[in-house]
Amino acid sequence: MHRTLAVTLLAGVAVAGLATPATAAAPVKKLLVVGMDGLNWDIAVAADAPNLDDLAAQGTLGRSLVQCPSVADSSSGPGWSNIATGVWPDRHGVKNNTFAGKQYATHPDFLTRLESANPALGTYSAVDWAVLHSQGTFSAAIDTRVTFDGDANGYAGEDAKITADAVSRLSSGGPDASFVYLGNTDVVAHSVGTGTAYRTAIAKQDQQLGQILGAVRNRATYANEDWLIMVTTDHGHRTPLGGHGGCGIDERGTFVLAAGAGITAGARPIDTRQVDVAATALQHFGVAPALDGVSVKTRSADPFDRLALRTRVDETGIPSTLAGWTPAAPSGWSVDRSRMPAGGMTEWRGWSFATDEFWSRAQSGQERENALRTRGVFAVADSDEYADKSGGTSFDSTLVSPAYPVTAGSVARVRYVTHYRQEGSQKADVLVSFNGGADQLVKRYSADARATVESLPVTVPAGATTMTVKFRYYDANNNWYWVIDDLRVS
Ligand SMILES: [Zn+2]
Repeated sequence: MHRTLAVTLLAGVAVAGLATPATAAAPVKKLLVVGMDGLNWDIAVAADAPNLDDLAAQGTLGRSLVQCPSVADSSSGPGWSNIATGVWPDRHGVKNNTFAGKQYATHPDFLTRLESANPALGTYSAVDWAVLHSQGTFSAAIDTRVTFDGDANGYAGEDAKITADAVSRLSSGGPDASFVYLGNTDVVAHSVGTGTAYRTAIAKQDQQLGQILGAVRNRATYANEDWLIMVTTDHGHRTPLGGHGGCGIDERGTFVLAAGAGITAGARPIDTRQVDVAATALQHFGVAPALDGVSVKTRSADPFDRLALRTRVDETGIPSTLAGWTPAAPSGWSVDRSRMPAGGMTEWRGWSFATDEFWSRAQSGQERENALRTRGVFAVADSDEYADKSGGTSFDSTLVSPAYPVTAGSVARVRYVTHYRQEGSQKADVLVSFNGGADQLVKRYSADARATVESLPVTVPAGATTMTVKFRYYDANNNWYWVIDDLRVS
């Protein structure tokens, strides 16, 4: 595609809707995503991996946890599908490495979306886990797909071939947007665990990353280009024995590393998620489909994400050093615990605020791990965990928002992320109050609503100037839970 580069660029800018001065050319948008299979970030930090270290210093590193059963395995099919499509498994349909149920026609990979938005863009993907091409995770619409077969020939050698191919293509001219996959780290961890050999495999892969980045930075045209570089992984690995697919924290651990213009150096946001890779890639070219992901350049406005977090009190299965919860609401918010009994687990006495890791570790295998559309810190009312200490019955607590300004006679929209599991007689009510008046029921949950983004219309009555939103979870006796995150009123 390099002979048509100038045309490509102008067309790319046109898609972005940006004005282009006729004389001063805007920097040429370029994208490189490097995927490293099964890379545990803690072990990468401990390994000899200077290129990953440099990128983490120059860029933004967001660590998070992926889904696990029953939604989908913490494995490569679902993980790379999250990364490629920017949506979670309940939308892209891939639940395991059979790829049965895939919905790639509806939810294509980011390179295919770039091709659709601007066919003049040069796109390239190189993989040695061949199914990523044969199953269409990265589709046939991509200009150049280079496939090696790590399963047949061994990943160490095929990763070297991928590196050579990428270096050759990226040294001059070459594609505008690339995905380069390296797989040996995962294979080594499966075969011998996450010890010395795994660290050696990470070091080798880091050298390959260095060669690819070197090819980019030595381009004659580099000074006139705007490169977005991302490195990511599909899932973690159990330490020290290796393996993944289930709900363990090590298995679910992933990261998104992004560097480039407009990306904060050294930032460690808690609200990044795996689906943000595709959204960040597309936003770089001015393409913005409705995805679960958001660009890493767009950070959270949710006050929950700025709370100071505490370590455990009564919980026993959570590491004592993990600061991941607080009972203290953000400024302007409150939690009504006046109808809560005195006993029960301290962490869950009424609405609390917790991270995915802290709450997941409270009790595994009960779908807490799959609150997929939450980010960072979220609010939790958990009658099941509350009942794990004596006195923890009759859960009844209300989470109260600030008073938002509203316009009388208009329809306000109450938008939030929720993850709700129904059992028994428990009730979950969304209420609103105008100017401090009587509560009005907007919605009552009587069935599961998992990993859901809600948008409820509320008519604002005459004379009203403010609206408060309340989430009351009650009549719950060792039943399930309710999660609320990222409330927005407009
Ligand atoms: Zn694996």
